[in-house]
Amino acid sequence: MIKKCIFCKIIKKEIPLDIVFESKDIIAFYDIHPKAKIHILILPKKHIVSVKHLKEKDKELIGKIILTAQKIARKKKLKGYKLIINVGSQGGQLIPHLHLHLLSGKLVGFP
Ligand code: AMP
Ligand code: ZN
Repeated sequence: MIKKCIFCKIIKKEIPLDIVFESKDIIAFYDIHPKAKIHILILPKKHIVSVKHLKEKDKELIGKIILTAQKIARKKKLKGYKLIINVGSQGGQLIPHLHLHLLSGKLVGFP
């Protein structure tokens, strides 16, 4: 937990919002500025900065994140979707807490 990280604050429920899914190590919630009809963020509760910072021991966690996206998409009966991970500021990552974007519907203004 990094005190100034906005996603860690969401995980700690310091910022209330619509939680789509939660388990002991993963949380998913709606993006505050949706870039598609459905735009959900799925992230590890553990503060991992980006894909660049993943370690071998995180492979199960990253697998769970993708499977969580699949489960949410299935539950929402999405026929097709995109899964995007921005990596580093030059890769369009604004928030330095690893997250997977689940997007469905026409994309608008995605970096
Ligand atoms: P990225 O550019 O990949 O780091 O994506 C960060 C995403 O977090 C953006 O799509 C933002 O709209 C979203 N975001 C920022 N603050 C919040 C928040 N408080 N609640 C939900 N989504 C947020
Ligand atoms: Zn964090």
